[in-house]
Amino acid sequence: MVPVGKVKIIPHLEECTPPRGELDADSLSQIALAAILENDHPLKVDAFRWAAHNLADDTLIQRDLDCTFDEPGWQKMAASGLLGLLVEPELGGAGLDLCSALLTIEGLGHGCRDDGLTFALSSQVLTMQLTLDRFGSTEQRREWLPKLIAGEAKGAFCMTEPEAGSDSYSLTTTATPVGDGTYTITGEKAWVTMGPVADLFIVFATVNPDLGRWGISTFLVPASTPGLTVGPNRPKMGMRTTPFANVTFENCLVPESARLGNEGAGASIFSAAMEAERAFLLAGAVGNLERTIDDTISYAREREQFGQPIGAFQAVAHAIADMKVAHETARTLLYKAAALQQTGSPSMMAAAVAKLAVSENALDAARSAIEVHGARGYVSEFEIERDLRNTVGGVIYGGTSAIQRNIIGRLLGLPAGER
Ligand SMILES: Cc1cc2nc3c(=O)[nH]c(=O)nc-3n(C[C@H](O)[C@H](O)[C@H](O)COP(=O)(O)OP(=O)(O)OC[C@H]3O[C@@H](n4cnc5c(N)ncnc54)[C@H](O)[C@@H]3O)c2cc1C
Repeated sequence: MVPVGKVKIIPHLEECTPPRGELDADSLSQIALAAILENDHPLKVDAFRWAAHNLADDTLIQRDLDCTFDEPGWQKMAASGLLGLLVEPELGGAGLDLCSALLTIEGLGHGCRDDGLTFALSSQVLTMQLTLDRFGSTEQRREWLPKLIAGEAKGAFCMTEPEAGSDSYSLTTTATPVGDGTYTITGEKAWVTMGPVADLFIVFATVNPDLGRWGISTFLVPASTPGLTVGPNRPKMGMRTTPFANVTFENCLVPESARLGNEGAGASIFSAAMEAERAFLLAGAVGNLERTIDDTISYAREREQFGQPIGAFQAVAHAIADMKVAHETARTLLYKAAALQQTGSPSMMAAAVAKLAVSENALDAARSAIEVHGARGYVSEFEIERDLRNTVGGVIYGGTSAIQRNIIGRLLGLPAGER
């Protein structure tokens, strides 16, 4: 057995051999096919069991109310190697292939009732670390990835600005060269997931606004940089246990060695990061959806009205059947997008289709779950209404549903229109 990183608690992660770098195209395709076909894939089941056992938390309702991040849970995930799923073992990661990492995140989403914690892990592993790992220099990767994986540091990804949301390349944060390869960064980033607890920010800023998107560069900016200010945690509708803030940069001095990739490569880096985020960030949400279905089936079996379990009413059974279809569709599209990306095939269409379907299906299913639970679905103490609130963000982050439809339309050859 080849040891994989320091993942010890989830048995099948240790058996995942050989590490990603040594897998050929056929093996990757087989892993992808197994991910699609096996809803009870061992990696997923192990992660589910681990999360259900280690992340069970009877303070969750209150933490959700107070918007409190589960730092002890985060450290448990770090100690189990779950924060380094995709990074090579040499840097402390598990070195998993993409589909195996997503199966693990899906299982965590199924077993952990704190969707905000799964979301935080997903954004860390799939947006922050993946971008750093793909585009960082050897020194940058060696400096930061081991700390991020060990839970000694947290990262956040800063693209969106108050006036640059879907139109992200219209950003106005500037990185001004000031000689000797040094830059000063000035601007404001909005809605930064993990911002309040982050030690490192990936920041997109323009070096030359006249060049439009080709003037954008990417920088690694430590939270300790003078001039960097993180705003207060902003309470939000769902995913309330994931901290979230605006971050401002006022003449933050950064050396050339803090730049990720070449000057002007920011748009390409962002585009690659978004394709991954679009397709994969919702793996946890697919697991969350399965948990919602489990809860709804249990309730429909137990709750009796008119002398029979409500699940015996066709209307209720059909609602749950539709939730199942929503889940299967989401899962299949998620792993199709992952399989294409894993095997190096074009995946932009599959990623946009998966993002759209997974986020919208999860939202629809969470609403159905509330209807099946009646008033209990609406009241916080039964923990069903939280699922609905948590799913709403999925149709916004990583590009709104309208933006996914724009991408799909464009790839289908429809006229591009204004934007
Ligand atoms: C939970 C959550 C976490 C987030 N985390 C991060 C993060 O870590 N880092 C980060 O950089 N950002 C993050 N974001 C920001 C997110 O990426 C943006 O909210 C998103 O890109 C949309 O931008 P906006 O909110 O400004 O909406 P806008 O772009 O202002 O859109 C408003 C409405 O107009 C529609 N619209 C806009 N343009 C078009 C168009 N061309 N065609 C059709 N309709 C259009 C949209 O679909 C939407 O309905 C997060 C957001 C959320 C909700």
